[in-house]
Amino acid sequence: MRGEEPVVVEALKARALPEGSCDKLLEFLRLYRDAVQIVVDRIWSINKKLSRRKLHRLFYSNVVSTGFRAHHAKEIYIYANSLVDSARSNGGRKPVLRKLSARIDKYDYRLDLDNMTLTLKLHSDHEVKLKLVTSRDRVEKFRGWSNYEIVVKYEDGEFWVSVYFRRAIKPVKPRTVMAIDLNFDNITLAILTLDGRLVKLKRFKTPYRKILTRRIWIERIQKKYSSSWRFIRGVRRVVERHGERTRNISWDYSHKVGDLVAELAIRYRSAIILEDLEKLRENNKRGKRFNKKLGLWFYRRIQFCIEYETRERDLEVIKINPKGTSSKCPRCGSKLIENENRVLRCRKCGFTGDRDVIATINLYKKYVSKHSRCGVSGVALNAPKPNENPSGMQGNRDEAMKNTSSCMNSYES
Ligand SMILES: [Zn+2]
Repeated sequence: MRGEEPVVVEALKARALPEGSCDKLLEFLRLYRDAVQIVVDRIWSINKKLSRRKLHRLFYSNVVSTGFRAHHAKEIYIYANSLVDSARSNGGRKPVLRKLSARIDKYDYRLDLDNMTLTLKLHSDHEVKLKLVTSRDRVEKFRGWSNYEIVVKYEDGEFWVSVYFRRAIKPVKPRTVMAIDLNFDNITLAILTLDGRLVKLKRFKTPYRKILTRRIWIERIQKKYSSSWRFIRGVRRVVERHGERTRNISWDYSHKVGDLVAELAIRYRSAIILEDLEKLRENNKRGKRFNKKLGLWFYRRIQFCIEYETRERDLEVIKINPKGTSSKCPRCGSKLIENENRVLRCRKCGFTGDRDVIATINLYKKYVSKHSRCGVSGVALNAPKPNENPSGMQGNRDEAMKNTSSCMNSYES
């Protein structure tokens, strides 16, 4: 389904009014939900990872025999499988579906954006036509995009449709490279020219400590009331409120960082280098220094926003395996030793530098060696001295985030 070229995906959500009776559509949604549940139950009992092919062999003909079309069946087992996957990786229980919702592939609907109508192919050769209710402006945005999937939902007596659009991006040819290193309490960002000159260095504080404190606090409450906390209204409400606050803090922050990064990247025409978080987990890097399980979701969220905002502006985003980036000397490749205050030193060549800055330079070097289309050989390493600190480091996050200009006065050269 996903091509090799980078794409932007976005959903258009609209209320949908069936023309004529909605009985068949409701029937379809019920059948769909039940079919997903049956597949979920089966996959759950099998208790191992299943390939697409295996899924197809196990479920296709059964689902089709109940009146579903070929692509309905495919969507049903893929969706069921993803539900089981995520329940398992969260250590949750077997998913039980209550809501009426169906994912439908592009082969089973026809979308007419001019007339704002959607025709759905249902089970047993039924068809239903829906009128989409949304503003013209919102739709205009998606002219020229292609759509490939929709989700139909029935909620509180109303039908809702989300249409998933995508558009290939033609990346802007980068003039600089921006390497971003995510850390427990800060995000460090370095912009370098293609021949290795450092143009800008910046650091954002993260609200991670604040989030962590809340989490620990919640866990303590949950432990104190062990299994009963769910049933005590006051306790449950406190836990929920704190959970929500945590989510808000982290989303707000991620959006702001995404915006700031995109603004900078546009200004410097940067290709954006991020750490590959999947690899990060495999490498088990930094395991001792922070709680990975807690950290990773936060990293993902930040990366998601950075990727979203920059791709939206047709900038290139590349993920690089961060293995060794915070332990190797960017000049000679030897292992670095830690001095005090996050300063690392190379015993072999004497290079010293801030840990996070070194990480960004190493990310940059990895990118350059992988994509050496411009024939860059080394890094000129005008890296900052250990006593220099990127701006935005002191003071609190709000300060740094509120006033973009004040925290962007760093290493302009
Ligand atoms: Zn060295």
